[in-house]
Amino acid sequence: MEIQSPDRLIRLAVDLVNLQELPGPAELRAFLLEHGEPEPVEVGEGDLTGVLAVRESLRAVFEGDSAQGARVLNELLARYAVRPYLSDHDGTPWHVHVAEPGASWADWLAATTALGLATFAAGHGFEALAVCAATDCGQVFANTALNRPRRFCTPRCATRTRVATHRARQA
Ligand SMILES: [Zn+2]
Repeated sequence: MEIQSPDRLIRLAVDLVNLQELPGPAELRAFLLEHGEPEPVEVGEGDLTGVLAVRESLRAVFEGDSAQGARVLNELLARYAVRPYLSDHDGTPWHVHVAEPGASWADWLAATTALGLATFAAGHGFEALAVCAATDCGQVFANTALNRPRRFCTPRCATRTRVATHRARQA
């Protein structure tokens, strides 16, 4: 349970919000491992409800304006983050923790992704954390390109929307 690069935290937050569903502990465990959590990753049935609640809070950051985004992130940080500290537990390289030692996965995800998103928003602006503008998509994304506004999660959604708009005009 650790923080590494800011990119990793943003990816963790975006992918968590974009998960279609969390069917069970095995899927959550796989998700955490895919996102760079070192073993041992033990997930129980009880972790799921909390993680779903964190996901809903994070989605509000992407959906809302900057005032809402800042308010939600400040609430998450106030509730879940602790004073940052360095750790080299289990022989890992020194890294910063912002969640309590032994925090649940939900609490850890809340503290860690809130810090990641807060740092990102401070650097890029909240408009860089957005929901895809394609009508049938709904995925959130973080635009890492400074001064290059983006409306779509992927080039695929941008193209699909452009083609649909074009067809609608022709009709
Ligand atoms: Zn999209």
